[in-house]
Amino acid sequence: MKRKLIAALTILTMILCSASYVLATDDKSIDKNDLQANDPQAIEEQIAQEKDFYLWQIDALIDSGYTYDEISKMTIEEVDKILTKDLNEEELARYNAAKEPGVKAIAATAPAGYTRVAIVPDGGGTDEYFHPSVNTTDSTIAGIVADAKLGCKKIFDTTYNYPSITYANYLSGEWGEDPGRENWCHEGIDIAHKVYTTAAAYSPRGNGVVTLSSTSGKYVNIWFPSLGVTMNFQHLNDIDGTGALLEGEPVDLMQFLGRQNTTDAHVHVQTCTHYKCTQVHSGRELNYECVKPYAYIK
Ligand SMILES: [Zn+2]
Ligand SMILES: [Zn+2]
Repeated sequence: MKRKLIAALTILTMILCSASYVLATDDKSIDKNDLQANDPQAIEEQIAQEKDFYLWQIDALIDSGYTYDEISKMTIEEVDKILTKDLNEEELARYNAAKEPGVKAIAATAPAGYTRVAIVPDGGGTDEYFHPSVNTTDSTIAGIVADAKLGCKKIFDTTYNYPSITYANYLSGEWGEDPGRENWCHEGIDIAHKVYTTAAAYSPRGNGVVTLSSTSGKYVNIWFPSLGVTMNFQHLNDIDGTGALLEGEPVDLMQFLGRQNTTDAHVHVQTCTHYKCTQVHSGRELNYECVKPYAYIK
């Protein structure tokens, strides 16, 4: 009897020990994940050191929609090519000046009135600044990123999550910040499908009408009367393919708009309140003419 009791107690102790071991193991792995997810600065410093990139280049690549994993596999030539792609002569000169020895520590000062967000979740980067009219702060950023995610999933019609899709890297009203882009303000959000690089993009809303369609520039504007906004989609391919979007034609919910092109590797979406807008607002010279798109795309 006594022996049986001891045996039973031993088994019970073993079960309890193994249970607490499992718990302890789980706790450890959660801690590790949290550390990685919450410490992008450490990841960026590690990549900068290993690859001999400037921290601002890593920052700029994050703003351009690349994940830490992708950046850690790049060469410096690839980095330069990506970061100078859309720059004009003057902006390019500033980019190159920032690469001169001795100036790498100098960071541009955020424009007056911009709000700082320490960490943008889901790979959105660190120390990001937002235009006064979007009023984005540390306490509102999680909701904005969550809405951007919903919009991204809808436009790509996907169930993937970060980092298979990205949606937090360059948000609406975000300051260009990086060398060459100090006078830029992002007019919309950038979403990227990382698994299907030529993923189809669909209209997140219905009852729209095309107000501008550029098969050469690969962008389209759609006016949605019930929302009172014009939505602009950029960096698309195949918008002249099957089901071409022609000016004046109606746009249904989830209608095919085009495909994410492999050069830009993301789709840009912006929203303005101009009636049947036929412009593509650029955000250059810090002119933020759009409105936050999140409520309209999700
Ligand atoms: Zn963009
Ligand atoms: Zn407009």
